[in-house]
Amino acid sequence: MSIAPCPIYGIHRMISKGDCSAVDANTGQEIPTLVGWYRCDCGERVLCEGWPHFGGAIGDYCTEGAIKGYGNIGGQMLFQVDKNLVWNTTQSTIEGYRFCTSDGVCR
Ligand SMILES: [Zn+2]
Repeated sequence: MSIAPCPIYGIHRMISKGDCSAVDANTGQEIPTLVGWYRCDCGERVLCEGWPHFGGAIGDYCTEGAIKGYGNIGGQMLFQVDKNLVWNTTQSTIEGYRFCTSDGVCR
């Protein structure tokens, strides 16, 4: 996968935005592993399984290019995702991204 550098920070600063849910954009089926989302000031978003801003493994994840749509359903963010662009890692980092708490403390 290609990695676009952050136009603001060079390395994206992905701020935790809390819980989310995700569905396959083609089938509408839930993707139960994508449960949290992050956003950089440049607009780049990441959805993932773990909580890497606390140092945990990322698990399943996708980046901005996989997000086909989104909405706020009763206060919960719901993303439509291209399931072919969901990856997995046992690491707590992805090259080109840092993960940060909601008050901006980045790992
Ligand atoms: Zn960025």
